[in-house]
Amino acid sequence: MHHFQYKNNIMHCEDIAVPEIAAKTGTPFYLYSAATLKRHFHAFDSGFKGINHLTCFAVKACSNISILQQFGRMGGGADIVSGGELFRAMKAGIDPGKIIYSGVGKTEAEMREALFAGILLFNVESPQELDRLQKVAAELGVTAPVAFRINPDVDPKTHAYISTGLAKNKFGIPVDSALQEYARAQQMDNIEVLGVSCHIGSQLTQIDPFIEALRKVKNFVGRLQGEGIEIKYLDLGGGVGITYDQEDPPHPHAYAEAITKEMQGMDCTLILEPGRVIVGNAGILVTEVQYTKVNAGGEKEKRFVIIDAAMNDLTRPSLYDAFHEILPIKETGREKQIVDVVGPICETGDFMARDRLLPEVKQGELLAIMSCGAYGFTMSSNYNSRPRVAEVLVNGDQVHIIRKREDYDDMITSELLVEVP
Ligand SMILES: *Cc1c(COP(=O)(O)O)cnc(C)c1O
Repeated sequence: MHHFQYKNNIMHCEDIAVPEIAAKTGTPFYLYSAATLKRHFHAFDSGFKGINHLTCFAVKACSNISILQQFGRMGGGADIVSGGELFRAMKAGIDPGKIIYSGVGKTEAEMREALFAGILLFNVESPQELDRLQKVAAELGVTAPVAFRINPDVDPKTHAYISTGLAKNKFGIPVDSALQEYARAQQMDNIEVLGVSCHIGSQLTQIDPFIEALRKVKNFVGRLQGEGIEIKYLDLGGGVGITYDQEDPPHPHAYAEAITKEMQGMDCTLILEPGRVIVGNAGILVTEVQYTKVNAGGEKEKRFVIIDAAMNDLTRPSLYDAFHEILPIKETGREKQIVDVVGPICETGDFMARDRLLPEVKQGELLAIMSCGAYGFTMSSNYNSRPRVAEVLVNGDQVHIIRKREDYDDMITSELLVEVP
C-alpha cells in the first residue's frame, strides 16, 4: 500500500498533484511520500512488539537525512556500512546507541569514528577485522561492542548480486570457524562480545530462508552458551522483498509473526535491519519524455521513448535487469504500444524498460517510474556529467525539497583546475 494514486486521472502523491511539483522543481526528481514511509516503518516495527527488538533502518537503501530523521523519531536505529553513513545517521539525530555497523571492509578511520560516536554494535566479518578493531579500540582506550556476522550458507533465492548468505559470497564468517573467533575475542582486552548477526540477501520473497538462517543462528548461540559465552543481541539482518512486478513477498506482519514464533525462549534482543521493505514503494522517479521515435520499419520496427532520467539516476534496470513499473502521470486512455523506455546516456545499457507495453506517450509528458525509494537515489552518480537530481518529500498537502538539484558548479566543486606543463 502506498500513497501514489490517481485522482481525476492525474497521479497524486498524497494530496499533491505530481505535475504541480514538476512545474516547480523541474524533472527528473525523486518523490517520496511521508505517509507511506511512516506507515511502512510502523507496519514493520509493530509486528515485533511482542518481543525485545530494535529496528535499525539500512541507511544504504535511502540515505537522505530527512528520511533517516523520521525513522529515528519513530524509535528506529540505523544499520550503516561506512563512515559516511555514520555521519548521515548522526546528522539525522539517530541515537548512536541504536547504530549497527556492518560491512566487510571497515577502515581504521571508520572504526575510530564509530567508537568515538559510541555505536551499539560492530558486526565483524573476518578474523583480521577483529584484530584491527582490538588495536584501534586499545589506542583510543575504549571497548568495542562486537557481534560476528556468521555466514549461515542459506540460499535466499534472489538475484545473484544481492545474495549474501551463501558460503561462496564474501560476507561473514563460516559457522565452523566463528566459534574460534568468539573464543579469541573473549580474550581481547578491548573487545566486548555481545551478539551474533547474519544477513542472507535482499529482495527475498519467501519466509523460509529467513527461518532456516535464524535456526542456524539459534543453534550457534546454543553452542556459544555451551562455551560460556552469553549473547545479548541476535541480528537477523534485512532482506524482506517488495512487489515491483508480480512478486508476492510476505507481508511484514507475517514475516514478524514467523520470526517472533521462532524467537520464543531466546533471552536476547532481536535486531532487524530492513531497508527496501520500508522505503522501496514509498518513492518514485518522475521524468519527462524528451522524444519519441521509431527505428526501422516492418518486422524490425522498434519504438523508443527517450526520457530525461537515465541509468546514472536509477541504476537498477541496468545493473540487475530490474523491473520497475512505469505509469503515465496523466492517464490518457490512449492505445497501448510496445516501447523501450531509455535515457540519454551513451550506453545501450541505459534503459528503464525494454519491450514494455505502455499507453502511447508524447513529447513533454510526464512518467512515473514506480518503486524507486530503495537503492534509487543512493546509487545515483554524475556519469555523463549529469548533475544529481532533486529529492522531494510530500507530507499531506505539504511539499518539502529534501535535496536540491545539483547544478554544474556542485558537480565540479571538488575538482582542481591544474595546469601541467
Ligand atoms: C543491504 C543490507 C541490509 C538491507 O537490506 P534490504 O534488502 O534493503 O532490507 C541489511 N543489512 C545488511 C548488512 C545489508 O548489507
